Amino acid sequence: MKSHAEWVASASRLIPETRLFIDGRFTEAVSGETFESTTPRDGSVLARIHAGGAEDVDRAVRAARTAFDDGRWRELPPKERKRIMLRWAELIRAHSEELALLDTLEMGKPITESLRVDAGGAADTIAWYAETIDKRYDEVAPAPADALALITREPLGVIGAVVPWNYALLIASWKLGPAIATGNSVVLKPAEQTSLATLVLARLATEAGLPDGVFNVVPGRGEVAGQALGRHIDVDKIAFTGSAEVAKLFQVYAGESNGKQVAVEAGGKSPQLVTPDADIPAAASAVAWGIFYNAGQTCNAGSRLIVHVSVKDRLLAEIVKLTRETFRLGDPLDPATVMGPIVDAAQLEKVLGYIATGVDAGATVVLGGERTGGNHVQPTILDGVTNDAVVAREEIFGPVLAVITYDGDIEEGVRLANDTDYGLVASVWTRDIAVAHRAARGLRAGTVWINTFDASDVITPFGGFKATGAGRDKSLHALDSYTALKTTWIDLSR
Ligand code: NAD
Repeated sequence: MKSHAEWVASASRLIPETRLFIDGRFTEAVSGETFESTTPRDGSVLARIHAGGAEDVDRAVRAARTAFDDGRWRELPPKERKRIMLRWAELIRAHSEELALLDTLEMGKPITESLRVDAGGAADTIAWYAETIDKRYDEVAPAPADALALITREPLGVIGAVVPWNYALLIASWKLGPAIATGNSVVLKPAEQTSLATLVLARLATEAGLPDGVFNVVPGRGEVAGQALGRHIDVDKIAFTGSAEVAKLFQVYAGESNGKQVAVEAGGKSPQLVTPDADIPAAASAVAWGIFYNAGQTCNAGSRLIVHVSVKDRLLAEIVKLTRETFRLGDPLDPATVMGPIVDAAQLEKVLGYIATGVDAGATVVLGGERTGGNHVQPTILDGVTNDAVVAREEIFGPVLAVITYDGDIEEGVRLANDTDYGLVASVWTRDIAVAHRAARGLRAGTVWINTFDASDVITPFGGFKATGAGRDKSLHALDSYTALKTTWIDLSR
């Protein structure tokens, strides 16, 4: 691992590619417009990125459509497609320092995490889906003896992938892996805050042998490039991850254009439910990492601690101690940094505003609560929160834990946990197997963790209920969401 000084030196030498990637090559935006990419390390401008507009989205969609229609990708032998995607994954690994550096500079995530979770996770995801290409079989239906009825999965066509900034590469790979493995073409619209690494991802795909037009990247403003993609009449599906508000806009865009499919993965207000018989040190560690990891800018952050009143003081004391000892704030290019800055000034103000709202509503600040050095916010714990308070209902997307107590049985804890607009993840801490099962059944969340938090891999689906949306990334199931079933019925009697 490079030292802090070496990462800083690498950053100073960086000249990032800022143009759109369409039909296998970098190209300028038709309008000539650009937007600034700044770094939360010090607010300085990293690059001026070409701002894709409606015409650019149209160019990218046409390239994707042509690549799909002429079969240059989907009709290659499965083994060949697998080979190309595996090569792509290898190239991502080989360029992981470049990818991680861009991601860290753009959004402030500690470099060790950009390397491990984003660059490493993207490579693993692409490789995993590559391996599925020659291992999935279609079906033969139980038709009468004089007929043969086939059920095959066909790619949908052109996929518009719209992703957020908090795990730019990883979440992009959750869409790209299954979409491309099943033979679709993709136009990716990265978030304004994190475009640069996705452009490298596209360059590497072409280098690996992915035919031109199969994977295109159009950076730009959400209301412009994102909307143009959402409204494009030749896009078959939007795979969206981001806020619940923008998720609804994509459903409107689809309804007002060609009725394209829209799969949505939006935010969360996820509960960590701690019962009286929980392993308190283990729960404390999971609760702290669950909310403070990535400075709380994680869709599945465990932002509501719902703890039985009888163990609250003991648990909070452990969380505070562990957080003070572990979460070292600092320059995200320093490998010793555990928590980086908040992504940008607007998000910083939002987080600080929520902390003030919590205090105004009567919460006690048990830890943190302040901005510190540049764009950092201290890990913050607000005790004495009621579940109807703003800080318990709205997604803060920062390192702020709302502590809510319950005094009854597990059903009371589950009722509070479910009393939210969202339904992404939940965790339960108990040594009682029956309580664990009752809680897991009762919790309305796409993932329920028992005596753990954030345990995950590409092997299991990820998504939620309610305002979180119905989309599911990851696992073999994601392959189904980029394909449609086709029936071919053959009369064998003639
Ligand atoms: P966001 O909704 O503001 O933006 C997401 C994407 O939509 C970006 O690419 C953005 O440019 C685009 N966009 C914004 N406004 C648009 C518009 N009017 N029309 C079309 N496109 C538009 O979200 P964000 O701030 O980038 O990310 C944070 C959010 O993402 C949080 O709510 C978080 O919970 C959610 N998230 C969810 C998951 C999940 O898997 N469920 C994962 C990560 C993040």
